[in-house]
Amino acid sequence: MDFELSNEMKMLADMAYKFALQEVEPVVKMADEEEKYTPDVRKKAGVNGLIGCWIPEEYGGSGAGFLGNTIITEQLSRVCMGIGLNIVAATFGCENIYYYGTKEQKEKYLPPVCAGDKVFAGAYTEPNAGTDVAGYKTRAVQDGDDYIITGNKMFITNGTICDWMVVQAITDPNEKVHKSFSQFIVPADASGITKTKIKGKLGIRASDTAEIALDEVRIPKENLIGKRGAGFHQLMHFFDTTRVMVAAQGLGLSQACLDESIKYCKERTAFGKPLGAFQITMQKLAEMWIKIEALRNITYKAAWLLDSSQPDYHLSAMAKYLAGQTAVFCANLAVELHGGYGYIEEYKVQKYYRDAKILELYEGTKEAEVMTLAKVLLSR
Ligand SMILES: Cc1cc2nc3c(=O)[nH]c(=O)nc-3n(C[C@H](O)[C@H](O)[C@H](O)COP(=O)(O)OP(=O)(O)OC[C@H]3O[C@@H](n4cnc5c(N)ncnc54)[C@H](O)[C@@H]3O)c2cc1C
Repeated sequence: MDFELSNEMKMLADMAYKFALQEVEPVVKMADEEEKYTPDVRKKAGVNGLIGCWIPEEYGGSGAGFLGNTIITEQLSRVCMGIGLNIVAATFGCENIYYYGTKEQKEKYLPPVCAGDKVFAGAYTEPNAGTDVAGYKTRAVQDGDDYIITGNKMFITNGTICDWMVVQAITDPNEKVHKSFSQFIVPADASGITKTKIKGKLGIRASDTAEIALDEVRIPKENLIGKRGAGFHQLMHFFDTTRVMVAAQGLGLSQACLDESIKYCKERTAFGKPLGAFQITMQKLAEMWIKIEALRNITYKAAWLLDSSQPDYHLSAMAKYLAGQTAVFCANLAVELHGGYGYIEEYKVQKYYRDAKILELYEGTKEAEVMTLAKVLLSR
């Protein structure tokens, strides 16, 4: 058993963090305040090989695997989780294409996304069904050589800025629910699509989130991903990988909370001593460190299993669950350690506190993850 990162991975981490300091840091405040997506940063990230590094080189990625993607996500999220998401989630939905798409689909769609020129969105959630993925209502009806898609999608990351989206829709309503869904590649500018940006998010305000209405959107049958009726299974597989990415976001954010807290506890004095000299403060810092170390180990292991072709759905869910819990815990303590200053925007921890909560909500709520894990335990 070897827990040491390879030199290649260490260099990747270093490069991603330097990129974040140089390209992301200067626009963090503006993007958060103005709720602005940052296309230029994403393009530069593509040029630097930071997008889709889990995709093999023959399809435009850097072939650094899911561990590489985890490390990049962690380092970008230390500086800004929202802008980091703009970079690493440019491939959102491409997991479905990579694992189940045809060679032609992979050659057409993956390279421009990895290069930073194009963006995908994964359109699964609906206004009336999020956790209940079997409750999606969007329909795709075959009409000769085309499919016609009608329905509504909610909270779609990259929704208004994407070039293509992967849409989950029912093709076979008379089949059992697990065999009734299929997935399609839909051009974002297709006739019949209306995109509405969702404003006023608590955190990750640099990330674009949208509601998408599809009104009789016609697409060629070549845009079906994988087998008709396999969409439910394909979506579950998608979560195996993207939950590890979300875990890495929580890891980076938690580390940033600890870094800012250590700095502040050395600088700020009370009762003639630095804050770090008080035992209660020391306990907070140490507890953050312990949880972050546990999170790093489980997240890296989940990524390593994906790269070793032995994905562990449960470990991906555990990593994501722990990431939400750790990030919310660390952001809370970071604000507490900063006292009143932690409550104002001039201090970075205020934004970390706002950003952290999404990790317990998207890519499966924390309740959904616990439910899944408990069911496994009870079925043994
Ligand atoms: C900023 C943002 C970005 C997002 N990006 C995307 C994206 O790119 N693509 C996409 O498809 N979706 C995306 N989502 C959607 C996200 O994944 C869903 O919001 C999430 O899955 C929860 O679904 P919901 O909001 O419908 O909540 P609901 O499913 O209605 O849940 C509400 C509450 O009830 C609980 N609950 C539900 N069922 C049960 C149960 N059986 N037992 C116990 N508790 C239960 C939930 O845990 C939660 O606490 C995004 C959401 C946000 C906020």
